[in-house]
Amino acid sequence: MILSAAWAGQRYAVLGLARSGMATVRALAAAGAHVVAWDSDAAARERAAAVDGVIVHDPALLDLSGAAGLVVSPGVPLNTHPLVAQARAAGVPVIGDIELFAQARAELPPHKVVGITGTNGKSTTTALVHHILKTARVPTLMGGNIGLPILEQAPLEPNAQGGGVYVLELSSYQIDLTQSLDCDVAVLLNITPDHLDRYDGFEAYAASKARLFAIQSAAHEAVIGIGDTASAQIAGTLAPRADRLTKIAAGQCLDQSRWPALQGPHNAQNALAALAVAKALGLAPEAIEQGLATYSSLPHRMETVATRNGVAFVDDSKATNPESTAPALGAFERIHWVVGGKRKGDDLDACAPYFDRVAAAYTIGEAGPLFSDLLKGRIPVVEQAGDLATAVRHAAAAARPGETVLLSPACASFDQFRDYEDRGRAFRAAVEALD
Ligand code: ADP
Repeated sequence: MILSAAWAGQRYAVLGLARSGMATVRALAAAGAHVVAWDSDAAARERAAAVDGVIVHDPALLDLSGAAGLVVSPGVPLNTHPLVAQARAAGVPVIGDIELFAQARAELPPHKVVGITGTNGKSTTTALVHHILKTARVPTLMGGNIGLPILEQAPLEPNAQGGGVYVLELSSYQIDLTQSLDCDVAVLLNITPDHLDRYDGFEAYAASKARLFAIQSAAHEAVIGIGDTASAQIAGTLAPRADRLTKIAAGQCLDQSRWPALQGPHNAQNALAALAVAKALGLAPEAIEQGLATYSSLPHRMETVATRNGVAFVDDSKATNPESTAPALGAFERIHWVVGGKRKGDDLDACAPYFDRVAAAYTIGEAGPLFSDLLKGRIPVVEQAGDLATAVRHAAAAARPGETVLLSPACASFDQFRDYEDRGRAFRAAVEALD
């Protein structure tokens, strides 16, 4: 567990008791803090009540003044939740588990922190940096928006190489809840419209990502993908730190043939970002190359789940917006595209440059009717399949050897599935059920 002596005797309220919330409750209680915990879910409240020294009580009914922090889950909407306003009015910092990690850093053995954000590619780049470090035998832990909650993990031990590296995937919600994380290397991959229900417009969403660099000291390294205007603007604001800024331009000519799990233009960006991070951390070029070559993709990100009769079935369920689907379309030649779900916008414009690769589209979910209308006339065959199993059956029947059946929905999953992982598993099951 990672914790700080500075929390002892302080009062904290913790709102949201899923995995990172529970890890927070345990770390604060173990450090000797007074913890009030709450979640709208009764089972979650029971889990917290079982932790020694933790009081389960709705913080909305408490006077928060004097508390050291209201620790909220990234899932809590800061822009609308009444308790957030109440804490702010009482002068109580609204923070998350990453901020607590930042506070605990002073007591950790020497180490470095890499923070990675962006609308798309965070998990891939985080896992890739972590893998490159492991391959180079640098002690490393991965946390934040990926893997185990960071406070729950055993701290990296001191070592002769000047310390291990914590690699953190940071969503904009987590950055909003973080005030003092000074990343040794901070990475921004890209910014495209997403999560706009949680922000007052695109600019506020972009500003959230920019904060990762604002709270970083100027002596540390920054890596920024400048393929979109918002990210390029943020890179522009770092001009005074130009010698510590690596800019990753879009469409760079790059030989990716040695990196089997890093195909497609999006993975070129992710690989270049990881490479820049590894260089900034002082890794040797051969070690970096070995890491890139031996990386294997995360589940549900352009994952080939089967090849049948020369047709590849690829699960890209994690692509929950058109911008993340576009590069998946760009990675294959002739595609039977399963698309749809709970849509985040009104168009598929970001995917349009790759429509000539799509032999047929099979729309599913809530977005099915609209997407069918949008795609008719632009793609040779468009079928409103409705559900995933039907789409997979029809796509499999139509696909010829050498073609790809691709689930890359460009939508959230919540209309028909619990989450994107559930949707990816359903895709695999539908492929396995083919006769
Ligand atoms: P995140 O953690 O930011 O959601 P992931 O690495 O899990 O990102 O990738 C999610 C999806 O986004 C993938 O399925 C892929 O199609 C797409 N993607 C990955 N990297 C990028 C990138 N650099 N730019 C655009 N899209 C990307």
